[in-house]
Amino acid sequence: MLCSELHDLLFKKSYGTMKLVMGRAGKMENIETIDSVCTYCGVGCDIAAYVDTKENKIKKIFAHPDGVVSQGKLCIKGKYGYDFVDADDRLKTPRIRKSFLEKNPAIYEALASALVDLDATWYECDLDAATTACAMKLKEIQNEYGSKAVASVGGARSSCESSYLFQKFTRHTLSSPHVDNCARVCHSPSLKGMRETIGEGAATNPYNDIYNAEFMIVIGSNTTEAHPIIANRILDVARENDNLAVFDVREIKLHRFAKYKAIMPHEANLLILNMLAYVIIDEELYDESFIEDRTKGFAEFKEKILNDPYADPDYFKNIEGYEYLAKMVRKVAREYALKKSMIFWGLGITEHLDGSYAVMAITHLALMTGNIGKPGTGLMPLRGQNNVQGACDMGMLPYYDPDYQEPKEVGLMTPQLVDAMLDGKLKALLNMGEDITHIHPNSNKTQKAFESLELLFVQELFMTDIAKRADIVVGVKSAYEKTGVYVNAMRRLHLSQPLVKSELPDDWEVLQILDNKMGGSANYKSSKELWQEVQRVAYRRFSGADYHRLEKHRKRGLQWPVHTEDTPILHQLDFRTDDGYGRFVYHQYRLRGMIDEIINNKLQGYHLTTGRTLAHYNNAAQTKRSEKLNSRYDEDILLVSEEDAADFTSERVILKSPYGQSAPLKVKISDKIRPKTLFVTFHHAKSSINALFGDASDELILTAAFKSIKVDVITYEKSK
Ligand code: SF4
Repeated sequence: MLCSELHDLLFKKSYGTMKLVMGRAGKMENIETIDSVCTYCGVGCDIAAYVDTKENKIKKIFAHPDGVVSQGKLCIKGKYGYDFVDADDRLKTPRIRKSFLEKNPAIYEALASALVDLDATWYECDLDAATTACAMKLKEIQNEYGSKAVASVGGARSSCESSYLFQKFTRHTLSSPHVDNCARVCHSPSLKGMRETIGEGAATNPYNDIYNAEFMIVIGSNTTEAHPIIANRILDVARENDNLAVFDVREIKLHRFAKYKAIMPHEANLLILNMLAYVIIDEELYDESFIEDRTKGFAEFKEKILNDPYADPDYFKNIEGYEYLAKMVRKVAREYALKKSMIFWGLGITEHLDGSYAVMAITHLALMTGNIGKPGTGLMPLRGQNNVQGACDMGMLPYYDPDYQEPKEVGLMTPQLVDAMLDGKLKALLNMGEDITHIHPNSNKTQKAFESLELLFVQELFMTDIAKRADIVVGVKSAYEKTGVYVNAMRRLHLSQPLVKSELPDDWEVLQILDNKMGGSANYKSSKELWQEVQRVAYRRFSGADYHRLEKHRKRGLQWPVHTEDTPILHQLDFRTDDGYGRFVYHQYRLRGMIDEIINNKLQGYHLTTGRTLAHYNNAAQTKRSEKLNSRYDEDILLVSEEDAADFTSERVILKSPYGQSAPLKVKISDKIRPKTLFVTFHHAKSSINALFGDASDELILTAAFKSIKVDVITYEKSK
């Protein structure tokens, strides 16, 4: 039987889990088709998998043919990125570092009978021993240094249930306010900027509203690589209607299909966004009645922007190489204001000194033109990981309890936690699925800070960079082995179900054991019970989203807030601010970096930006275990402009900044890069890209300024 016939046969049956018995004896007899959600990016594609139940093995993953999100297509990560599930080096047995036990003889004594020698560095043990060791050390640290000497950092691909319990355990059982998640290095500025102006840090409309939009702006998002299935929709519409404007610091694939192909200088987001607002105001293209009925602060905003010398697009006439933007910005502003328009952005907006302010500037555009609260309009922050929205909703942030409520005490953000480690104030870190020492900036400083911890407890799938530095490591179920709720970049809840069975614990089960050993009373029998508590605590968004309904609507999905109905479009009648009005919060662009250098004729050296490639996801812990993905991109590559080729005579170069240097990076000359700028991916820890970055971060929310840094280039010869 052909694969396509098999596919048809399977999906003629009712939606859900189906068992297939094939005609030919012995072949495909134990194949079951199971629906779930892709474990990688924030698009949250609905997947289906053929699973051999006898072998307990995923045979194939493909887009559900009726998939509302995937629309029948997955990117290569979704399709091929599942080999990690049964990779030989999965962390199956908990480990305790020998040197940790040498420093903690009482723990060694208590656990000696449970320890099995693994190698020079590690003992293996069971989960009970690993959690006992962790609890003993946590108690000792808290007795000596106080409850706040302990912090928890979670990943943004953990399920909602585990994220919820992680913050609850930390805040209530451990009495520490320090919880954070890896939104710190991605979309925290989107949350901050949107909550400040419209009261809700989430995408306003469903992806399919792209088909209703008359005009689209994409800024700071390499959508075809980072959110490919959303890019498919944007490209469909742009090809048909020629209605796309793309702003980026280099030529990206989306530019090919854009009516307005804007390549801009580094660190110019806020400058350009304020200019768009300036044109709309100066040419009186704004929606007066929307502003009057739905917003506050416009008059003051208008006055400030009209008197801001940086806000007039003519400013670009002074910036050599970018003069064309003076006209283009005006044209984009006119189309945006006069049509039903959507704006999409990614980390190219958020990972800057003024990331939160740039997000506010984006929301201003929607507020002044009424491009919000209606089909075909809206604001679309393209959230990175498949549950970054959910992890934030669950309160894995130091300044929000679940459902964005005020916590009893505000804790420290991750960069402040790193400083607290160096100051000797933070002694223990519990880490769930977040590779901080690889993914966060200022690697040299971060790694030094981690050495000062007395306890690093890590829950992981593999021996990632941070797991290698841990005192105790516990292997846990992967997303394809468990049940849990994930919230994608359009607020859509998806209840995943396991594709294969695993004896490993789920993250929340490890946390529950720890909680009990630390005096807590967590007693959940299942992820469902945990979710029922989430529904009660975070009722403003999730009261109507029980497992039964999520299962029933697995295909359609439900967008929060979910009560009697769900909410595909936010802000239809009022904004989610305290008084229901949208707010204008003007912030002037501050001259710096590349633009300052061009204007003052001192452009020299190289400005580096970073980003993802389609084949890998973040630290590549999962994707590099798929041969099909890794063979496409097994190392980070540095893109260099053709015009700068003479400076790059060796096959590899080292990049250097005041904070550290990269490993030797393979050079690729490209016609897609502007002179004096460079681009590199950061997926492989061995490249040490994040050693280049210091503490420069978003002014309000400390998200690292990963999108622009000045670097020196050092020629690397192999013989060295
Ligand atoms: S676009 Fe994202 S969610 Fe969809 S298949 Fe690719 S990685 Fe998975």
